[in-house]
Amino acid sequence: MLRLKTSEEIAILKENAILVSKTLAEVGKLIEPGVTTKKLNDVAEQFIRDNGAVPGFLNYGGFPYTLCISVNDVVVHGFPSNYTLKDGDIVSVDCGTIYKGFYGDSAYTFPVGNIDEETAKLLKVTKESLSLGAQKAVAGNRIGDIGNAIQKYVEQFGFSVVREMVGHGIGKNLHESPEVPNYGKPGHGKKLADGMVICIEPMINAGKKDIYLAPDGWSVCTVDRKKSAHFEWMVAVHNGAPEVLTTFDYIETLNKF
Ligand code: MG
Ligand code: MG
Repeated sequence: MLRLKTSEEIAILKENAILVSKTLAEVGKLIEPGVTTKKLNDVAEQFIRDNGAVPGFLNYGGFPYTLCISVNDVVVHGFPSNYTLKDGDIVSVDCGTIYKGFYGDSAYTFPVGNIDEETAKLLKVTKESLSLGAQKAVAGNRIGDIGNAIQKYVEQFGFSVVREMVGHGIGKNLHESPEVPNYGKPGHGKKLADGMVICIEPMINAGKKDIYLAPDGWSVCTVDRKKSAHFEWMVAVHNGAPEVLTTFDYIETLNKF
């Protein structure tokens, strides 16, 4: 289902995006060696509820938590647990909300303590690729223009794009049409139109692109056990141009990452 959004609906999606952005910053405040990932989940759930919203992922398709928390070689959809974060880890936190009948969905990969140089580059390049992809969310462009911008950028650093997992449209449903792959050919795929709201979410592996599903039935991991990064924004095509609804400013003004 591809449903174009009105300006009023985009405004509500933005409220969701801002709440997710703030929730990710609340989580960011707690990120340090020794904290359990379950603690991050519980703080996020409380914060979302305190703001009059509902966790968007909890019970979605049977997912049992508020956050997807994916450490190191886990690409996405990891479970919060009693695992305590270690110095040198990276942790992807993916968060969803439901507010005023619409969804929010964004993700950030946090470094824990001191990370090695190659891992720092993975985070930086993945985040930059998201921004480059978002710049292509212009009316008249095609979905392939977004994926190509991401793929071309990250591959020059020797990193690889996960193929099986992709971004998506968002609205009254968490996952709407179109799919938004993080790879592709310029000029290919669905045409972008005013009123489309999409989640662009590069999942970028430090090593090879191959992934497997862990026995828990949810956690997606790299086959070569190398680290993977994931950043996600909600982006509207609004008045012909990309409007990024999510902001990482709340995280970045913590001056911690
Ligand atoms: Mg997400
Ligand atoms: Mg998403």
